[in-house]
Amino acid sequence: MEVPHPDAPHPGTPHSDALHSDILVIGAGPAGLHAAFYVAWRGLSVRVLEARGEVGGQLSALYPDKRVYDVPGLPGTRAAAVVWQLLRQLDGLNVDVRVSSVARTLERAGGGWRIGTDRDTMTAGAVILAAGLGALLPRAPRVPGAEDHPDVRTDLPDLAGLGGRRVLIVGGVPQAARAALELTEAGAIVTLTHSRAGFRGDPISLDRLEQARASGQLEILAPARLLRLTPQGAELEMGGETRIIGADTVLMLGGYLPDLSPLQAWPLDWRGEYVPDGPGGRTPLDGVYVVGDLAQSGGDLKLISVALAQAAVAANHAAHHVRPGLKVRPGHSSEKR
Ligand SMILES: Cc1cc2nc3c(=O)[nH]c(=O)nc-3n(C[C@H](O)[C@H](O)[C@H](O)COP(=O)(O)OP(=O)(O)OC[C@H]3O[C@@H](n4cnc5c(N)ncnc54)[C@H](O)[C@@H]3O)c2cc1C
Repeated sequence: MEVPHPDAPHPGTPHSDALHSDILVIGAGPAGLHAAFYVAWRGLSVRVLEARGEVGGQLSALYPDKRVYDVPGLPGTRAAAVVWQLLRQLDGLNVDVRVSSVARTLERAGGGWRIGTDRDTMTAGAVILAAGLGALLPRAPRVPGAEDHPDVRTDLPDLAGLGGRRVLIVGGVPQAARAALELTEAGAIVTLTHSRAGFRGDPISLDRLEQARASGQLEILAPARLLRLTPQGAELEMGGETRIIGADTVLMLGGYLPDLSPLQAWPLDWRGEYVPDGPGGRTPLDGVYVVGDLAQSGGDLKLISVALAQAAVAANHAAHHVRPGLKVRPGHSSEKR
């Protein structure tokens, strides 16, 4: 799965410079991606804001390597592949996905809404909140000297830009194995280290990682303890010895933590970490809908299949809200060309 550039539209979809869309979806997990599909399928323009550098929500961030058995029609499919299929369904539709964009403000604008991120302000006739557990933001690096090194990153960077550089990757999450392979292919000189001997990842990636290590394409130092970062790289302790590693870039991949705080000032009648949802996914704010793990009706039933169903319902209600001439019922896709 390709990670779109922060300002790039979804591949294969026309880009509009105007920062208005019929509907704006906040969050590109399964709920947000499926809501975007339905809105675009109804012929409306839709923009999706995603806090992380890639889409897929919890599936991409927290368990891309795990198999999921209860998504309808995709039995025993790895979470990353479920995301890929949801993305594939957007091909050719008018969907503008913006990654690395955290929605922070919401205010009324005419009959619709104005939404602010750190970079932009955009407007939409309706908003669908699909923010799940919150913005999945990378854990801050907790190692002495992190502020001394000139290039410490905490999420998957633009890998192509690191070709030729010495990159130290720290972590055992699936993103670490993936970054090690992709950066090696991009021509970076990669050292991968983790406090435990094993790495997480899908079996094919882990096999490729072992092959790359065995053929000397990359170095793996594990189990090893990261002692400190220095301006030149890092110091590790491995097998009782201190190792000095030179690194132009340090990629600290320690997983992701959900952060709801960017949304919690919005007047949504919050119930803890949930937003109450009425019929059609309506919130107390006219033209603002909520779906997926964030919606109170799902409660403890935090499931992809539930999120997808809620997304389909809310997207069609939102489409009708923005274009009252459109019926809520979408009709059957099988009867459309
Ligand atoms: C380890 C694990 C295993 C699981 N296994 C299964 C399983 O087998 N089957 C199953 O059905 N479910 C499973 N789930 C649950 C499933 O992943 C969730 O129910 C599903 O991801 C909910 O989708 P969502 O789109 O509502 O939210 P999320 O997947 O959480 O996506 C929300 C997205 O919104 C983004 N976001 C949040 N706030 C903002 C903001 N302010 N601005 C911009 N973007 C924002 C987040 O970064 C995130 O990408 C599992 C969950 C975990 C953690």
